[in-house]
Amino acid sequence: MRPEALNSLFVEVDVLDGVGPKLRRPLEKLGLTRIKDVAYHLPDRFVERRAVANLDEAGVGENIIVSLTVREHRASGGRGPFRVITEDVLGNHCALTYFGRASYTAKKQLPVGERRWVAGRLDQYGQSLQIVHPEHVSESTSAPLGQLREAVYPLSEGLTQGRITGLVQQALKALPELPEWIEPGLLDRMQWPDWQEALREAHRGPHAAARDRLAYDELLANALALMLVRQSNRSQRGAPLAGDGSLRAKLRLPFALTGAQKRSIAEIEGDLAQPSPMLRLLQGDVGAGKTVVALSAMLIAVEAGAQAALLAPTEILARQHFETLRKMLEGTGVEIALLTGRDKGRARESILMGLLDGSIDIVVGTHAIFQDAVEYRNLALVVIDEQHRFGVGQRLMLARKGRRTPHTLAMTATPIPRTLTLAQYGEMDVSRLDELPPGRQAIDTRVVSVERIADVVGALARHFETGQQAYWVCPMVRDSETDDIAAAEARFATLKERFGEDVVLVHGQLRPEAKDAAMELFAAGKARLLVATTVIEVGVDVPNATLMVIEQAERFGLAQLHQLRGRVGRGSEKSTCLLLRGNTLSETARQRLALMRETQDGFRLAEEDLELRGGGELLGTRQSGDTPFRIASLEQIQKLLPLAHDDARLLMDRDGGLSGTRGEAARQLLYLFERDWGVQLLRGG
Ligand code: ADP
Ligand code: MG
Repeated sequence: MRPEALNSLFVEVDVLDGVGPKLRRPLEKLGLTRIKDVAYHLPDRFVERRAVANLDEAGVGENIIVSLTVREHRASGGRGPFRVITEDVLGNHCALTYFGRASYTAKKQLPVGERRWVAGRLDQYGQSLQIVHPEHVSESTSAPLGQLREAVYPLSEGLTQGRITGLVQQALKALPELPEWIEPGLLDRMQWPDWQEALREAHRGPHAAARDRLAYDELLANALALMLVRQSNRSQRGAPLAGDGSLRAKLRLPFALTGAQKRSIAEIEGDLAQPSPMLRLLQGDVGAGKTVVALSAMLIAVEAGAQAALLAPTEILARQHFETLRKMLEGTGVEIALLTGRDKGRARESILMGLLDGSIDIVVGTHAIFQDAVEYRNLALVVIDEQHRFGVGQRLMLARKGRRTPHTLAMTATPIPRTLTLAQYGEMDVSRLDELPPGRQAIDTRVVSVERIADVVGALARHFETGQQAYWVCPMVRDSETDDIAAAEARFATLKERFGEDVVLVHGQLRPEAKDAAMELFAAGKARLLVATTVIEVGVDVPNATLMVIEQAERFGLAQLHQLRGRVGRGSEKSTCLLLRGNTLSETARQRLALMRETQDGFRLAEEDLELRGGGELLGTRQSGDTPFRIASLEQIQKLLPLAHDDARLLMDRDGGLSGTRGEAARQLLYLFERDWGVQLLRGG
C-alpha cells in the first residue's frame, strides 16, 4: 500500500484550478495526469527576457518583451504560416508568425488596431523582423508580461507557457513533507537541498544541485527496484526447460547462424535449463539478427512442452514480428498467433481459447497479451522486444501470470554505452550480438547542406527510376509535436506535388488504421516514398527501401540517427543515407555528423555521442525513450548512477527488507517513482 504521505501527489490533475475537460488531453499528452507529474514537469530551459521600449533596442536572437500595435492579419494559402503584422512605437514592423492551429488563437488575441505586450525571440526573416510563435501575448493595459527570468516548459497543443507555469505553481504548493532517503553523508558532500526545496529550485532557475538531487532520487529508486527484482528472482523457482532440438532442426533458415548468434543461443539454452528464472538481455545492433535468436529460445520452450510469448512495443512491430516468425515456422507444426488490442470478438475469443488450452504455442503481441482476460496453459518464456518502452514493472505483471515465474529474455537494438547498461537493465545477464551477418554492405552516408535540397530531390527521382524505394525523415522543428507534424505535412505536400500519388505520410497523430494503411502500402512496394516524423524509428523492415533522407540531421541524437539509418541497408542493394544539415553548425554538431559518416557501429556511436556532448547542455536533453528515466539526463546518469548503485547496494546489504528508518524512507521513494513493484516483491511488502 502506498504510504499516506504520498497520496496528495497521486491525486488527479483535475483538482488543480483551471483544469477542466479541455486541458486534460493536452496534459495527458505530456504524461501529466497526477499532481506529482506536474510537480516533476521540469523546465527545458530558462529564458532571460529583456523589456525593451522599441525594436531598435533589441538584437536579433534576443528574448524580449515589447509593446506592439497590430496593423494587419496576413493569411497565406494552404499550409503556409499565418502572419500578424505589427508595429512598435517607432513604426518598426515586426511579423508575428504562427503555424497550424495556433493561428486561431492568434487571430483572437491580436485584433487589428489593438496594442499588445508580446514576449518572444526576435528573429530576422529576409529583410524583416519576426517573432515565431510568441511565448506570451497580453493586453497592453496590464503590466508587462512575464518575469525577467522565465521557465520554458515542454508543451503540447492546447497548452501555453503561462498555463503550465500556473499549474506547476499550484502543484508545488501541495508537496508533502517526506523523510530523507539519501544517505546523510552524501547529501552533505554534494550540498544537495532536501526533496521539497530541490523541486522548488528546479522550477525557479537553472540550479544544478537541485536538478542533480532530483535525478539522483530517480536513479536510486531504479537501482533499488532492480536489486529487489534480482533478489526476488533468485529466491524463486521457475520451470527448467530442456528442449530436445527437434523443432529447431526443422527450421529451414536460408543462412548459417553467426558465431555471435550461436553463442547467444547457447547462453540462453543454459539459462533456460536452470530452475531459477532467466533474466537476460540480448543486445544487438539493428540488423544483427536478434529475431532468429528469439525464435530459437521460444522453440526450446515449445520443445519442452511449454508456451512462449513475444511482446512488441507497437502494433506495427508486433505484426511484422508475427509475419516473419510465421514464415520461418512454416513446416514445423508450431502454432503461432497474433494478439493486439485491436483484435475483437470471435477472432480474439479463439486466440484466448488457444492460449488457455495450449493449442497455441507462441503468441506475438502488444501489451494486450498480458491483460487480465488472457490466460495461458503453460507460459514459460517471455521475450520482450525493445524493453525500455515497457520497463521492468510491466514485465513483472506478465511474470505473475503463470503458476511459475516465466523466463525472461529482453531484446534491445538501442546501442547503449556500457556505463548505461546498468541503469537500464540493472543486474540482468547480457548476451551481445557483436557481429553482423556476413555480406552486409556499408551504408553510404553523406552530409549535404540543406541549400542543395533541390539536388536531393533530383537524386530521389533518379533513385525511383531504379525501382527502389526511399524514406524521408522530417525534422523535429520545435518543442512541440504539433509543429513537427505541421512541418512533416508541408514536406509531404511538396514531395507529393513532385512525385505524385505514391508518396505516403506517417506521423504520431494519425489514427492507427491510417498509419498501418500507409505502412502497408509502403511495405508492399505500392508507395515509393515514405515521409515520416521519427515514428519509423522502430519497426519497419523494407529491404527495397535503400535511400534515406534525414532533414536537419543535426537536431537528432546520434543514437537516434543510427536507429533511423538502420532502416536502410537491409537488402542486398547498396544503400545511401543523406543527412541534410542546416547552414550554420556548431563544432560539436559538425563532429557528430562526421562520426555518422565514419562509422556504422552503434555502440561506438553511442559512446562517442556521450563524450561529445559532455556537460555541454546545462539542463541536459530529454532522451526520448532511450532510458527508463524521466528526470535524469544522460549526463546525470553517467555522473550519478555509480553513486546511486553503490548506495542502493549498501542499503540492501544492511537492510534488505527495507524496514529500518532509511529503509522506510526508501520505500516512499520507490512509490514516488512508481517502482512500487519493487516493494511488493518484499515479503509482506
Ligand atoms: P534485428 O532484429 O537484430 O534488427 P533481424 O533479426 O531482423 O535483425 O535480422 C535482420 C536481417 O538479417 C533479416 O533479414 C534476417 O533474416 C537476416 N539474418 C539474420 N541472421 C542472419 C545470418 N546469420 N546470416 C544472414 N542473414 C541473417
Ligand atoms: Mg528486430
